[in-house]
Amino acid sequence: DSMDYGPAPESATEVLGWLATRGQFGHYIDGGFTVPADLFTTANPATGEALAEVSQGSTADITAAVAAARRALPKWAKLPGHERAKWLYALARQLQKRARFLAVLETLDNGKPIRESRDVDIPLAIRHFYHHAGWAELVETEFPGEAPHGVCGQIIPWNFPLLMLAWKVAPALAAGNTVVLKPAEQTPLSALAFAEICAEIGLPKGVVNIVTGDGRTGADLVAAPVDKLAFTGSTEVGRAIRRASAGSGKALTLELGGKSPFIVFEDADLDAAIEGVVNAIWFNQGQVCCAGSRLLVAEAIAAPFTRKLTARLQKLRTGDPLDKCTDLGAIVSPAQLARIRDLVSAGEAAGGELVQAEAQLPAAGNFCAPGLLLGTEPANPCWSAEIFGPIATMTSFRTPAEAVELANNTRYGLAATIWSENITLALDIAARVRAGVVWINGTNLFDAGAGFGGMRESGFGREGGREGMAAYLRAPTAKPRPEGAPGALDAAPHPG
Ligand code: NAD
Repeated sequence: DSMDYGPAPESATEVLGWLATRGQFGHYIDGGFTVPADLFTTANPATGEALAEVSQGSTADITAAVAAARRALPKWAKLPGHERAKWLYALARQLQKRARFLAVLETLDNGKPIRESRDVDIPLAIRHFYHHAGWAELVETEFPGEAPHGVCGQIIPWNFPLLMLAWKVAPALAAGNTVVLKPAEQTPLSALAFAEICAEIGLPKGVVNIVTGDGRTGADLVAAPVDKLAFTGSTEVGRAIRRASAGSGKALTLELGGKSPFIVFEDADLDAAIEGVVNAIWFNQGQVCCAGSRLLVAEAIAAPFTRKLTARLQKLRTGDPLDKCTDLGAIVSPAQLARIRDLVSAGEAAGGELVQAEAQLPAAGNFCAPGLLLGTEPANPCWSAEIFGPIATMTSFRTPAEAVELANNTRYGLAATIWSENITLALDIAARVRAGVVWINGTNLFDAGAGFGGMRESGFGREGGREGMAAYLRAPTAKPRPEGAPGALDAAPHPG
């Protein structure tokens, strides 16, 4: 019962054509698009040009979307796992068919280099749906007696728009939940393209609902009668969501900020470590929650390391995100660019020495040259604050014990990277660094099969793998919700 919409458009011209024919987008609720209303513009960060107009979701839109998800729930949750798997496979296949289209769309809306959207964002999103199609088939045997939470409210950020959608939607659906997802206001387009795919494959209506809008729409979703909330974004908003949902019986997972240490010991393979830094902090213009943004370098090698790194920095190409040779694209919004500049200025005022790439930046668009803030001591505001831009801080240490102490001197605990040729040392340090994920001689490695998430102010809960699935299921021993509270599924038989 799937419709054929013809070949997927591939080039930027075709993506712009797709945007022009749509022009204005409504929300995707109950299997169809609503009439566009209360419009706002989503712009290309590299040029400032408007790409499309998108609707600001109202309280009534959220109510309608949650009601649609509630109506769709009993049937979806009761489908045998292998039936839900077919839908997840269908989504994965359709994403794959449109991989080039989605990569261009993501780059236009977010500003990230096409090489990254084509090689990282879209392939990982596709892989997440394939992986969770497998989980849908396994859920009854691997999680016996467990049931889905019910309706999930999901709120995602702008740094990896489609990938964050995949991280939220794929496990939720595999476990038998239905969803209402709110993409970030800066980058709603790939979620709307995903909504079209849901419609096209005939996914039962109400199983996936997409409501666009800013934080007000997000707050409405948090307040709505959903059974589980999943959020990725700033620690500040995560805290507000936790407060707003406290005592409501809604399950909650939060994936928040980070200021992840990147520790280089004196026996490290320096050239490899330098390329590691490029990936850690200049990938996606540094707008990565687990970015290795605090470089901690052994004093004995600090001078040669700094020389090599500043030379490498000058070779990075910042510019047109659609150019395959571009290393850094545009920052997502003028507001985000201003936030980066303000923080880095405060870091310089506090004694940090800024080294930035000198090449000319494009005149239009939100561009920021990649850089390093040398000599950032713990008292510097840039030591503790998440810059969320292409500027790493750098500090030296004398002993492994001091490296651990500096690494843990943060309110966050999302990720850490350790570079050393001594595996005994690396594993010892890994165990002592407080972070949800630790990479050794590599960085920013993601796999749909491995749980990802933080500790301390980086949030709680895991996404990906078995732990990620567990977060979308309720153990049979879980206390039933009080009468009248959301969670109609308490009475429903176990799916399958
Ligand atoms: P944000 O937390 O404000 O936005 C993330 C999402 O939450 C968006 O969809 C937004 O519309 C929604 N939202 C905002 N206020 C809300 C509310 N009160 N209730 C419910 N939903 C709400 O992030 P931002 O303003 O785009 O970025 C600010 C900072 O957050 C960045 O500089 C960076 O430090 C951090 N950040 C972290 C991540 C991450 O992956 N952990 C992603 C984006 C931003």
